[in-house]
Amino acid sequence: MSSTEDKPSIDPCSGCEMPCSKHATYPPEICQEIDHGSMVGSVDKHRRHLCIGQSVPASQWPKDVKDLQGDYIAELSRVLKEKKASIGYAVKLTSASVVTTTSDDPSHSADWYIFPDQIKISNINIEQIEQVIQTIFVDDQSVIKIKDQTKSIEEQLKEDSNLPTFDDNIKCERLHGLWLLVCCHYQRDQRCGVIGPMLIDEIEKYARETDRTDNVHWLKISHIGGHKFAGNVIVYPSGTWYGRVLTCHIPLLIDAYASSSEELKNKLKPLYRGHLDTTW
Ligand SMILES: [Zn+2]
Repeated sequence: MSSTEDKPSIDPCSGCEMPCSKHATYPPEICQEIDHGSMVGSVDKHRRHLCIGQSVPASQWPKDVKDLQGDYIAELSRVLKEKKASIGYAVKLTSASVVTTTSDDPSHSADWYIFPDQIKISNINIEQIEQVIQTIFVDDQSVIKIKDQTKSIEEQLKEDSNLPTFDDNIKCERLHGLWLLVCCHYQRDQRCGVIGPMLIDEIEKYARETDRTDNVHWLKISHIGGHKFAGNVIVYPSGTWYGRVLTCHIPLLIDAYASSSEELKNKLKPLYRGHLDTTW
């Protein structure tokens, strides 16, 4: 439906007027480059999402994060590729721009965020990559047993599962609450590079306004595929991917998942891209 001069258009998901005067609006040159075609089914098949948290600003990620200084991501990609057959399912690998909990050289160590397990493994140095990949991805020793086909991910997340254990000073903890992962990879594509940080600002603002900073968390992540559908947001623990997300949609997105409201989630359907693969 096109708007007439006296009647502004309304976004059906957020209920905001377009253009919105309440939330930040994307630059017109970026909006022009967004694809308005069908987004359903635009998510590559994957069962786990591994985010490598290092204290590198998202704006400084090279086009391919494998080229990051120190070869940490390159080594990780090599191990994942080498063990691909014994892992037996696809893993989505991205970088995340975080303040790391250790003072070690970011090119040598990282904090791993693993979804849908929703765990954080801190302080893994480059020599320990292989051991951790083996334990979590090959031996399936994690909060979620991806290879256990008898229980759904939802059922497993509710259980009081044991955390995996590792040598030395590697620390593993469960992450609670809602996690919103937003593609902010500027050097890969300007659309996510411009829109992503604006979405992060809105998430942070809305979480503070609604006093939910203990339960709502966010990560700036690198390329996930589908820049033409920016803004791209992945919600965990559900594993749902959304595209063409506007700043106006953030309150609805957070309310829907923080309250587990199916009615609110239904309003997000026009933004749906796909889902973490939970079927065999
Ligand atoms: Zn708005």
